[in-house]
Amino acid sequence: MSPRRTLLAIVLGLGFVHAAWTQSHPLAPAFNSRPGAAYTLYVNFSGFDYPGTWGSGTPGNIPAYNNQTGSTFTAAEQANIKNIWARIAEAYAPFNVNVTTVDPAVAAGQAGSDAQRLAYYDATPRLMHTIIGNPNSSFYSGAGGVSFVNVWATAQTQGRATNWVFPGRLGGYTAFHNIFTASAHEVGHAAGLSHQGDYIGTTRVNEYSRNNNSSVIAPTMGVAYSAARSVWRLGKVSGSTTQNDPLRIRQNSGMGNFINDGIGRTLATATALPFQSATSHIIDFTLARGIIVPVSNTNPQPIGVDNYTRGFFVFDTSGGPASIRVNAGGQWITPGVPDPDASLDATLRILDINGNQVAISDTPSLSETINITLAAGRYYIEVSSAGGKNASLGPNGDWDPAYFYDMGSYFLTGFVTIPEPSTMALIGLGVAGYGFHYYRRRKLGQNVSSESASTM
Ligand SMILES: [Zn+2]
Repeated sequence: MSPRRTLLAIVLGLGFVHAAWTQSHPLAPAFNSRPGAAYTLYVNFSGFDYPGTWGSGTPGNIPAYNNQTGSTFTAAEQANIKNIWARIAEAYAPFNVNVTTVDPAVAAGQAGSDAQRLAYYDATPRLMHTIIGNPNSSFYSGAGGVSFVNVWATAQTQGRATNWVFPGRLGGYTAFHNIFTASAHEVGHAAGLSHQGDYIGTTRVNEYSRNNNSSVIAPTMGVAYSAARSVWRLGKVSGSTTQNDPLRIRQNSGMGNFINDGIGRTLATATALPFQSATSHIIDFTLARGIIVPVSNTNPQPIGVDNYTRGFFVFDTSGGPASIRVNAGGQWITPGVPDPDASLDATLRILDINGNQVAISDTPSLSETINITLAAGRYYIEVSSAGGKNASLGPNGDWDPAYFYDMGSYFLTGFVTIPEPSTMALIGLGVAGYGFHYYRRRKLGQNVSSESASTM
């Protein structure tokens, strides 16, 4: 027995087994998109020494993001990790999912070794472990990622609650869009999704739809590397099967309904437009935020604005200029700045006190702005979905129809001319029945096969 083994035995005898076996990984910055959610997606940037085989391969010891070997990541690496996490968080924002960079095995006291962590991920239902890292080159060579299918909801064995995304095969560690869409895709598999393909009747043309090589929009469950938008789709996954991506994700056991962002969904229940201070004209973007989701939890449909929720905000103005912008996407990376890779194509309207349209912005751009001068009165801001997109019908117009969802996060920026506190004095003059902002700044709710391995 070597001296080292002797020492280990002594340490074990003293009960320091965890210390003796802990594998060292850099600590990732802590991000959570929805703490307390029913489902957890742990996105692991810290590296993993994978014990044994996964699927039909042997991944080996996967280095941490950017091959970092220290105890922490550099500021630049942390910013990059945030960029990737934010995009994945947005893909799953309509669902009861916490996308996190914090290892749940640590809080559970199950992080003594990577083998112990792996067993914990497997044994814990509704927990998925996605490794962003580069395995040995023979591990599913040529794939951008790999996952078992339908393994998120229930306990697993053999590492099936772990899946993979390989930055080295996607353009490198800063290929944020590619890493994001590959991650959303592999996690989609874990949630039970199959590949969105192109079909002519029952004949498969492409297993992975690229939406006729569109540079604008493509299905996350196809291939969306070359498209600006990677979104969920309703379309064929076999000759005889249509898959509704958001419905299938939501149908995971215990997932619950699409997220309710707490913003009023009707004129009558409109949320008071939050301002940065009681006297400010500036919209508080940290509170004026929501998530547009399908109206129906049991039969969500992508086409038609009425198939999506709307967010209503109400404000009073003493008259004057207003500039209101709905920013599609979250603000996970920088507060007040819309993240890239948004999922929602929004429509913005201003309505008068009777609900009549005063102004609308409904451009092909994901974000919308209205600059307007308003007469004194009460108004509503309505944020809605653009109402979905038809997929391309293919080079000869002969592919079966499919549809993309316009759903996801948004927040408001800009200003409106609101009555000043001095308006109180004007009330005595009978100027403004509506003229002072009684409305409380409502604190918004938490907006806020035998499975076969499927390679991306
Ligand atoms: Zn796939």
